[in-house]
Amino acid sequence: MCVMCVCVKGAVSLAGAQNNLWAVEGGNKLVCSGLLKTANANLLQAQVNSISPLYSGEAPQYQLSFTTASETKSELYDIVVLATPLQASVRSGVQFQGFTPPFDELPGNYHSTVATIVHGYLNTSFFGFPDPRLFPFASVLTTETLDVFFNSVASVCPVNISTGFRRKQPQEAGVYKVFSPQPLVKAQLKALFRSYYSVQVTEWQAYPCYGSSQGLPPVELHPNLYYLNGIELAGSAMEMSSVAAKNIALLAYHRWNRQTDMVDQKDLMHRIKTEL
Ligand SMILES: Cc1cc2nc3c(=O)[nH]c(=O)nc-3n(C[C@H](O)[C@H](O)[C@H](O)COP(=O)(O)OP(=O)(O)OC[C@H]3O[C@@H](n4cnc5c(N)ncnc54)[C@H](O)[C@@H]3O)c2cc1C
Repeated sequence: MCVMCVCVKGAVSLAGAQNNLWAVEGGNKLVCSGLLKTANANLLQAQVNSISPLYSGEAPQYQLSFTTASETKSELYDIVVLATPLQASVRSGVQFQGFTPPFDELPGNYHSTVATIVHGYLNTSFFGFPDPRLFPFASVLTTETLDVFFNSVASVCPVNISTGFRRKQPQEAGVYKVFSPQPLVKAQLKALFRSYYSVQVTEWQAYPCYGSSQGLPPVELHPNLYYLNGIELAGSAMEMSSVAAKNIALLAYHRWNRQTDMVDQKDLMHRIKTEL
């Protein structure tokens, strides 16, 4: 099972290196706005500060204290899904009050990955190709060694691809995405690029430090309080979060409607195997 988990993580981390990837036309941000629209959900933009259960009926309700752009207030909710990593290094700032979640400290602190987006001319000599016209790669991936200061360099395509689009050639100015564990200093940028017009830097708490012995955190933290991002310990990608979200939506629905026969179905694995 552990070998299987490590394989899945490795496969997910290499997925971005394939050349037949799918992308969302217009950009990944459309996934979020599209989902909100389809779900007809009411979005409240706020920072959640604390979650505390209140007991009046059979199941607890949850009081969420949150801060919007203009005020700090609280509201009661029947079902809560936490969809942000709870590891200390991610600093979600959510506090649990009045109950103890079923973990002491979540495993897998998050790796910091710095994304540097550069519009400029790649220094192909750095990769052993003095003539940029002979440089055959759209992306370069590295393995972790002390003297290599970046994880990957890849040419980036626009989110809207027009007919007749062609990827910029290495001898032309193009947009490149560099991932590195630390912010790049000027000398490192100068090593990777002959010259550049613009540089944008964003530091992400990107994915958990993976190990082969850690299990996945619980999905149910308390009755009707669910945690989505534990799935990232198996592999961190939008698709993984979507799978976890669908599972939680089904679980929350069945729990709420007391359809206990639909939860932890004993013969499910057998039925899935025979369905396929
Ligand atoms: C640099 C980088 C590149 C990636 N590239 C890809 C890719 O090409 N394809 C792919 O599939 N995946 C990619 N991933 C992984 C992908 O981004 C994640 O798997 C995905 O974003 C997880 O989605 P999520 O909604 O579960 O969590 P997140 O995207 O982490 O969203 C959590 C949200 O919760 C909010 N939040 C946190 N705390 C609070 C609080 N207290 N109150 C209110 N809101 C809060 C945060 O602001 C954030 O908006 C990439 C990740 C990184 C860092």
